[in-house]
Amino acid sequence: MTTDQGLLTNDQFPKSLMFVSGLELWQWMNQAKVDAIASDIPQAELDWLLQELAGLDKLALRLESFKDLPKIELKLSLSELDQLWQRRLQERVPVQYLTGVAHWRNFSLKVTPAVLIPRPETELLIDLAVAAVKSYSVNRKSHWVDLGTGSGAIAIGLASELTNATVYAVDCSWEALVVARQNAENLGFGSRVNFYQGLWWEPLEFLKGKVSGMVSNPPYIPSSTVVTLQPEVLKHEPHLALDGGFDGLDCIRHLVETAPDYLESEGVFLVEMMAGQAEAVAEMLESQGSYAEVQIFSDLAGIDRFALAYRL
Ligand code: GLN
Repeated sequence: MTTDQGLLTNDQFPKSLMFVSGLELWQWMNQAKVDAIASDIPQAELDWLLQELAGLDKLALRLESFKDLPKIELKLSLSELDQLWQRRLQERVPVQYLTGVAHWRNFSLKVTPAVLIPRPETELLIDLAVAAVKSYSVNRKSHWVDLGTGSGAIAIGLASELTNATVYAVDCSWEALVVARQNAENLGFGSRVNFYQGLWWEPLEFLKGKVSGMVSNPPYIPSSTVVTLQPEVLKHEPHLALDGGFDGLDCIRHLVETAPDYLESEGVFLVEMMAGQAEAVAEMLESQGSYAEVQIFSDLAGIDRFALAYRL
């Protein structure tokens, strides 16, 4: 019932459901809270775990009203639930990998350790892409690209908002593509998102000059910084999705150089980046010579996080 890393994934939860009384679960939760405080893990994460595995909603958890229920269905036994929580606390495994689910925009996405857990700030990339589209026409077919798709989050977000678009999602990791494809299919976008294995634009030769927009959340963390990240990220998330080389900008630099061959005139170039990189990325786009209207956008925390430009 576990993957190589010993993690349960959504498909692998035992089919037969377990039942506990509300009181039993409440007692377990109280101990789990004490353990969380001792391990410096936010209690909210316990709620996430119970929302996924015990089907409880936020209000029932907040008010502890589930305590009076005679019977609660769990996706696993109480002792397995406890083992998962201990793995969160001791091995610092992110809850999303323990449950196999991440919530992002209005989607519930499957995640495994083969993919980066999609971050809330990345949700804004979709809104920026939609707002950037010039001369939108429902009748005009458009081609959008998500390079380094990981869980498929961005590709699915684009497909859901840009209803006339066909989306092409690329990743070099086969394991990531398996997850991404499953997400697209589960969410009803299987026919709108096409998946390709390869490096950046490599598998998309046939789209040269035709791409309406490229969106990417590439690895952008400097190699020397990756090793200093919190253990949840450092020990459990794919470094392939994080490590952007010496200054963190290897991949963004590559995208700035290569995208002009693929984007149509007025095509959108949009990437996520790290705090402190905005000036360098804007300068790269300006000096490349094929882009106009270079803009930087901040995330909700006020950090310059996204760079946008149009193909001349
Ligand atoms: N935002 C991610 C983090 O903070 C990094 C994602 C990336 O490198 N693209 O860990």
